[in-house]
Amino acid sequence: MSYYSPSIEKLVEAFERLPSIGHKTAVRLAFHMLDANEEETNEFINSIINAKKNLKYCSKCYNISDSDPCIICANPKRDESVICVVEDVKDIIAMEKTHEFKGVYHVLHGSISPMNGIGPDDIKLKELLERLNPETVKEIILATNPRVEGEATAMYISKLVKPLGIKVTRIAHGIPVGGDLEYTDEITLTKALEGRREI
Ligand SMILES: [Zn+2]
Repeated sequence: MSYYSPSIEKLVEAFERLPSIGHKTAVRLAFHMLDANEEETNEFINSIINAKKNLKYCSKCYNISDSDPCIICANPKRDESVICVVEDVKDIIAMEKTHEFKGVYHVLHGSISPMNGIGPDDIKLKELLERLNPETVKEIILATNPRVEGEATAMYISKLVKPLGIKVTRIAHGIPVGGDLEYTDEITLTKALEGRREI
């Protein structure tokens, strides 16, 4: 039996579907939204709609961006000879926060996971290989997450890229195994980047 009216119940359910939102938080958010005035509510709804409408993939690195190419790829100060390969757009933000990396990125949008039926063709791997001109690209830094899938993906990419004569490095294990780049603090991530080794 529900204590709430069907409309509130539906709103609570919508919040509950968001990542890391439990029932209690969902209820709190739902009531917060109900208390908000119409202007605040519209601003919130429109920011979601606009983000969905305006954002697109960068055709170079597959970052999510308002512009194509994204601001990182469009920045002439970035070193295009070093490409940092990450699983997720959020990992770019984590790397950028370190202020240590001056190269460019490639977002795979996932990792190879045979257990979940995700193969090399299901991530932006072909797109990465298309970018790898050995005359212009000097190093690929594999910054996939230190989980089974991330490690497997790094090994898979390494095997494909090394024969091209491009240096392949893996960020060091300062990041807790099973952890996410996204939740790793800047100092740890900077050290992981500095301590990267060739594989
Ligand atoms: Zn880009």
